[in-house]
Amino acid sequence: MGYPHKITKHLEKAGIAVGDIIDLTSKGKGYKGILMPHHEFSSEDILTIKLDSGYNIGIEFDDGCGLKLLEKGLNSEETKHDSKGDKGKPVVAVIGTGGTIASYVDYRTGAVHPALSAEDLAYSTPELTEMANIRAQVLYSIFSEDMTVKHWQSLARAAATELNNGAKGIIIPHGTDTMGYSAAALSFMLKNLSGPVILVGAQRSSDRPSSDSAVNLLSAFDVAINTDLGEVVVLMHGETSDSCVTIHRGTRVRKMHTSARDAFISINQEPLGILRNGNIALSQTYKKQKNGPVEVLDTLEERVGLLYSYPGITSDQFNDLAQKNQGIVFAGTGLGHVPQGLVDSIRGAISKGLHVVMTSQCLYGRVNMNVYSRGRDLLAAGVISGEDMLPETALVKLMWVLGQTGDSRKVRELMENDIAGEISKRRGLFLKNG
Ligand code: GLU
Repeated sequence: MGYPHKITKHLEKAGIAVGDIIDLTSKGKGYKGILMPHHEFSSEDILTIKLDSGYNIGIEFDDGCGLKLLEKGLNSEETKHDSKGDKGKPVVAVIGTGGTIASYVDYRTGAVHPALSAEDLAYSTPELTEMANIRAQVLYSIFSEDMTVKHWQSLARAAATELNNGAKGIIIPHGTDTMGYSAAALSFMLKNLSGPVILVGAQRSSDRPSSDSAVNLLSAFDVAINTDLGEVVVLMHGETSDSCVTIHRGTRVRKMHTSARDAFISINQEPLGILRNGNIALSQTYKKQKNGPVEVLDTLEERVGLLYSYPGITSDQFNDLAQKNQGIVFAGTGLGHVPQGLVDSIRGAISKGLHVVMTSQCLYGRVNMNVYSRGRDLLAAGVISGEDMLPETALVKLMWVLGQTGDSRKVRELMENDIAGEISKRRGLFLKNG
C-alpha cells in the first residue's frame, strides 16, 4: 500500500521505494532497515521499517527527519508488479479470509487487525510473485472464530469458481482457530477437484521475527504449483523451527496447541505430506487431481449441535440442544459413552427424528460402542457411530449430510462411511503423528 502524499514526496525526493534499504534519522536517532509498505491502519505520518533483527518499527515522520537511500531493494513495488501476468507461470488463486496470517499491526495502538488485501499479502512475500501469477481476492477479513456456515459456503463457491477458471491451485489464508472446521466443510462440499485447496495460517503475525507466515505461504504455493494433489488440505509448520512444513488432510486435522508454530496435528492418520529442504514428500494415500469441472454441493443444515460429555452432565443439557436441532454430535468419553441419565432422553429424541452421532473426546482411536453395556444401550437407542472421526469433523459432516438427505437410513449410511478421507476402516492403535 502506498504512503500518504506527505511522506511520498520525501521518499520520491530521496529516490526511495518500498523494499529499499534506507537510513532514517528522527529526533536525533538513526534507524537502518527495509522500507515496508504503508499500512491502512497506521496513521498518515508513520513510516514503517523492518530492522535487521526482523522487527518492524513505525516511526513518526516529519519534515525534520532525514532520509537516505542505502541500497535499492529487489522487493521494490515496481519489481514485484512486473512479474505479474507472465505467461509462462501457473495461476494461483489466493482467497483471503483473515486471521493472523493476514494481519498487520497498528503502530499507534499495537493492536493486530485482521485486514489486509490478499494482494498485499502476496506482495509482502515477494518470492510468491516469482513463482506464479497471483489472482487475489479478499472474500472477507475476519477472525476465524467469527466464521459461520455461510462463510464456508461462499468460500467453497469462490474456490470452485477459481479452479474452474483455470487456477492451478487455491491458497486460503485463514485464522488458525477454526481452520480445521473450514477445511472439513470444504472437503465435503467440493467434489471433483482439479487442483489442491490449501488452507494456510500463521501462529505468529508477519511483523514478528518468529513469524511462520512467509514459510507457510511459500510452501503452500510450492505445493499448489508442483504437485498433483487434489484434496482440501491444511498446511502449517511441522516443527517449531522453519525446517519442516506439514500437509494435513482437511478432515483429519486439529489445532493442538494455543501458540506453538507446530500446533497442527493429523489425528488418526499420517499427514498427507511433508516439505523439508525444498523437497515435497507426499504419502501413498493422497488423492490426485481430477479433470474437473469442480462441483459444489453447498447445502448444509445449520441446526446441528456439538455436546461434550462430562461427569454430571444432565439430560436437560441434552434436551435443550435436542429441541433446537436436527442433529447432535457427542464428544463422548472413552470408547463413546455418556452418563446413564442421558440414555432415555437420547432414545426419545431419536424416535422423534433427531440424528445423534457419537465421537470420542479422546481424539485418538476409534469409537466402539460394542464393548461396554453403556455403548450397547446407546447403539440400541439409535446412536450412530462416528468411527474414528474428529468430533468437529463429524459435526460438519452431519451438517452436510442433513443438507443432502432427510432419509434416516441414508443419513446413517453416509455418516458411517467415508466420504472425504474422514473415516478409515483400518483397525489397530494409532497414537500420534509418525
Ligand atoms: N483467533 C484468530 C483466528 O483464528 C487469530 C489467530 C490466528 O489467525 O491464528 O482467526
